[in-house]
Amino acid sequence: MTLIASNALDVFLVASGPFVGSFVATSALRWPAGKGFVGGRSACRSCQAMLSWRELIPIVSWIALRGRCRRCHAPIGALYPLTEAAALGVGVWATLQFSGVELALVCVLGWTLLALALIDARTKLLPDLLTLPVLVLGLAVAGAQGWLVESLIGAAIGFAVFALVAAGYRRWRGCDGLGLGDAKLLGAAGAWVGWVGLPGIVLMASLAALVVALPMARRLGGRSRHVEIAFGPYLAAATWITVVHGPIVAA
Ligand SMILES: [Zn+2]
Repeated sequence: MTLIASNALDVFLVASGPFVGSFVATSALRWPAGKGFVGGRSACRSCQAMLSWRELIPIVSWIALRGRCRRCHAPIGALYPLTEAAALGVGVWATLQFSGVELALVCVLGWTLLALALIDARTKLLPDLLTLPVLVLGLAVAGAQGWLVESLIGAAIGFAVFALVAAGYRRWRGCDGLGLGDAKLLGAAGAWVGWVGLPGIVLMASLAALVVALPMARRLGGRSRHVEIAFGPYLAAATWITVVHGPIVAA
């Protein structure tokens, strides 16, 4: 009986992924335009025409409409279907390791990390409105599983390490290299994985950022010192992999 209930919850969670993704994409596009996170994509951004339910089915509608508004033919960004697919992917990926209530919690984490990654990539900001709930949820999960102390220490070390790096960089270069938002995100990650998971997250995120940022810097030639990259997406991805599969490199 519990098994059946658990399976039904799992199916519901995975199936709701694309709809959550739709909400995440809308929120990421609106942030920080002042409209906040509330509200879905109910009207065309170009002609303001209200969209019918058939135009709001995640992924399917975008493909059926070939990425254009049915009325004004304005292009609808691929961000929508891609985010919807990514949110579906989060749920499917999480079922590899989790089910039931644990799966629900991990899905909430994954979808929030997805929103953080998108917002940081677009605005270079990681809103407290999203990082703080990740921190609190991580502490709560650890508390329920009986390892609250490791979780708290992980959160403190994660935040402190990046906050120190940020302060050091500012002193050395006279400008911001790493934002405090990154420190808060690593702190939140520490709450989920404990201090043992932190070195692997920093290593994975840094390597991934280098692989993307180095070619970009090379293309820009001598001005490479001023290339700004959002670190949040890499941190979010590394956190996700560590929460689902465990620490790659343990402290
Ligand atoms: Zn339109």
